Formats: sequence, C-alpha cells, structure tokens
Amino acid sequence: MNLNQELSQEGYFGEFGGSFVPPDLKEVLDYLAAQFNKYKDDVEFNEEFRYYLREYVGRENPLTFAQQLTDRWNGAKIYLKREDLNHTGAHKINNVIGQILLAKRMGAKRVIAETGAGQHGVATATACAMFDMECIIYMGAEDTRRQSLNVFRMELLGAKVVPVTKGQARLKDAVDEALNDLIQNYKTTFYLLGSAVGPHPFPTMVKHFQSIVSEESKRQILEKEGRLPDAVLACVGGGSNAIGAFAHYIDEPSVRLIGVEPDRAPTLTEGVPGVIHGFKCLVLLDENGDPKPTYSIAAGLDYPGVGPEHSYLKASGRAEYVTVTNEEVLEAFQELSRTEGIIPALESAHAVAHAKKLAPTMNRDQIIIINLSGRGDKDVEQVFEMLKK
Ligand SMILES: *Cc1c(COP(=O)(O)O)cnc(C)c1O
Repeated sequence: MNLNQELSQEGYFGEFGGSFVPPDLKEVLDYLAAQFNKYKDDVEFNEEFRYYLREYVGRENPLTFAQQLTDRWNGAKIYLKREDLNHTGAHKINNVIGQILLAKRMGAKRVIAETGAGQHGVATATACAMFDMECIIYMGAEDTRRQSLNVFRMELLGAKVVPVTKGQARLKDAVDEALNDLIQNYKTTFYLLGSAVGPHPFPTMVKHFQSIVSEESKRQILEKEGRLPDAVLACVGGGSNAIGAFAHYIDEPSVRLIGVEPDRAPTLTEGVPGVIHGFKCLVLLDENGDPKPTYSIAAGLDYPGVGPEHSYLKASGRAEYVTVTNEEVLEAFQELSRTEGIIPALESAHAVAHAKKLAPTMNRDQIIIINLSGRGDKDVEQVFEMLKK
C-alpha cells in the first residue's frame, strides 16, 4: 500500500489526528470531509485549481540553484524552492485558493478565517476579493494592536477584521471564535483554516493543496540533476509548508525529510501526545498540563501544537525534526540576503539556518532542497530593530 494513502485514512496518522469536537461541529466537519473527498479527484475542480495557481499565484515557481551558498558552505548542492515568489509572498496562498474553490462548490457565501500575525488573514482576504466572497477574519485583539498594518491590509482587500477580546486575546481565542461562528452559520459559511492542523479533514485537505510544492520540486530536480535530492528541509509552525514540501518524497526512503523549529517552540522535539484545538498531536505542555506559551521571532512558527502528520512522521522515524536558535536564524536571514540577493521570511530562515549546518557534512554531489516558504519584506523592520540593539 502507498504510505501516503495509509496515512490519511479517516483523518488518522498513526495515533495522531482525528476529530475531538462537540457533536454539532462534528456534523459540519463530516459534511466538509465528504465534499472534499468528492471534489479532490474531480477533473474540472482540479483544472480550475491549476488554472488559478498558474494565472493568479504565478506557479510554477522556480527551483533555484544557489551557487553562492553552495560554494560558501562547501558541501552539498543547495537548491531553493521559491514559494517566496508566489503572489502575496508565501506558500499560504496555495491552500487558500484550493479551499476557496471548494467553498464555492459547496455554495458558501461567507468565508471566515483565523489569523495570528495576519499572514493567513491577508492571503484569505486576497482570494476572497478575487472570488467576490464576503470575508471575515477573527484576530486576537492583542494581535490586532501589534499587527495594525496587516489589519489595514486585510481591510484594504475588503475583509472585515473582528478583534477577539476573550481569553488572552490571541490566536487560540480567534480560533475558538471562528469555530463558534461556523457552528452557527454552517449553512452559508466556510471556515478556511490556515495550516495543516485542526480536526479532520483540515490536515488532510491542507496537505492535498500544499502538495503542489513537492510535486513541482520533484519534477524540477529530476530535470536539473536527473536524481532525487538527499534531503528536503522546511520550517515547521503548524506544518503546512513542510508537509507540502515533503509529500511527494514520503514514499522515497532515500530522501531525508527534515523539519526545523525554533528552539523556543520545540513542539516536535520536546512535545508529548495531547489534544489541542480538536485534534491529537505532539504538544508542548507546562507543569499543569496546559499548552505552554511559546516564543519565536518568526510569528508564523509560534504555536504550541503541530500538524498530526508531522507528529506521526516523527514518531515513525520517517522525518527528523531539529531546532535552531534565534541567533542562527538572524545570521541565516542576512547570509541569504547578502549572498543570493533573496531576503527570506524569518520563518524560512530557520530552514536555511539548519542547511548551513548540514551542508558541510555532505558530499559535493549530494543535494539539499530548502523550501523557501516566504519572502522577508514583512520582517525587514523587525530585523532592523533587533540588529540595532
Ligand atoms: C505561516 C508561515 C509559516 C508557518 O506555517 P506552516 O503552516 O508551518 O507552514 C512559515 N513560513 C511562512 C513564510 C509563513 O507565512
């Protein structure tokens, strides 16, 4: 049996995944799962998905050979998968386009989403503008203050941003509000989730739409090098860019799959099995068994849980997960900018930072693909402030 198929049976990945939600929400999600299963293999649906990826997102994006980094690091050949070149500047739009097309097929009039730092909210608002859908973004009130420019971006794109003041007024509370909205308005509303997390069918659905990343990179590396890479590296927050970058290599045992986390949000490295936001995964808990506050300089990686499939890939030993420090990330951010003329997102710089350690341990005829999940324009001001200190 194909490992990819075995993994996605009924939303379980080994012991991880599933759907731990109240009965009324379970019903809504079961219906969503049935609709997703119906359309994911539908020829017209897939043609439409590919059409928008090409004409709107700008795919396929390149697999760029990084000559300078390869020379400097003096080991494996370095290739960069350029999700930073997508419209809106990151991989998130791939999933947003897929889910919004499903929402249209399901007859939804409203799209709702959660957002932490605002990146998923902006990607969702962007696609809603183009597809002429009403768009409501739930965002912790605390986060709306810290990311006021992203709030303005979403409003500019025609979305309504709802600040959530409950609880700690952060991402978790925004997710709860979005789920409440969904339970009440499920007949007209589609909840567009931003990462490979949450109850079934979201992790499976998000992987499906993000798999385009490794579908392309595999074809591209075979064209350029005539062989598979030796390692694929990606940063892990919820895990969507990493699962997309890994998907088409999971059944290729010669390819090492390496997820990179911040050392201050080491979910896969130090987490234990637990239930968070309606699904089972590795999760960071404090002494009282509550989700532990995490801290990362990259807002997109700041989450105490992680996708269930990554939890399984870790437990089964198929993928490896490592951590890097903020200092290493800042150095990688500057090194890629200076040597290749590419300013990466701080999230993506995590993968670059680990590649810098791995490459010199490998031979010159070996190959590393780094998934460059996004561009760093959004982070330049933050890095400027950090380097001043
Ligand atoms: C949101 C984001 C991430 C983290 O999310 P994943 O679901 O783990 O991919 C990583 N990189 C960028 C550029 C992001 O915007």
